[in-house]
Amino acid sequence: MIGEGGVGRRWQPAYVALGSNLADPAAQLEAALLAMRALMETRIVTVSPFYLSPPMGPQDQPAYVNAVAGLLTRLAAPALLSALKALERAQGRPADAPRWGPRVIDLDIIALGRQQVSQPGLTIPHPGAAARAFVLRPLADIAPALELPGMGRLEALLAQVELVGLERLEPPA
Ligand code: AMP
Repeated sequence: MIGEGGVGRRWQPAYVALGSNLADPAAQLEAALLAMRALMETRIVTVSPFYLSPPMGPQDQPAYVNAVAGLLTRLAAPALLSALKALERAQGRPADAPRWGPRVIDLDIIALGRQQVSQPGLTIPHPGAAARAFVLRPLADIAPALELPGMGRLEALLAQVELVGLERLEPPA
């Protein structure tokens, strides 16, 4: 049941994909993770390694750094989305940034519990997840047995994507 402010009673696992290809991308991911740690009714439980990945869409932009964070949250899906959008804006991403263009930070809800959400501006599981190696690979590092509702098991999805070009980054010493 969802109470006031989009907060429910139950803690649910959520997976959030992070990506950046501007202004020191790895530092942008670290900054976003720090900000996510301060989100109300939400705990970061685990963070995948960071990966360097070729850009999707226009190729005349820098490579991306991507990762996935595993959370526990009591926020309902729309409340989690607006909290993440607020973090994107706070980190300097203009609200009208072009769809496939470079960005300082991109935060996408990949999954929230066993929910399937389809409403204007919000689809969960994230519809692009099944085809994106830069989401599936880090997700498999932290939740190898996960099944994305309506899409299938992570292991099967991962077997269908091209992993070439994805490079796991070593954590800084
Ligand atoms: P993007 O350019 O990938 O950040 O997509 C931006 C828009 O996608 C946001 O304004 C959201 O309204 C919409 N959106 C739909 N489903 C999701 C989701 N699962 N996670 C994040 N954004 C989503």
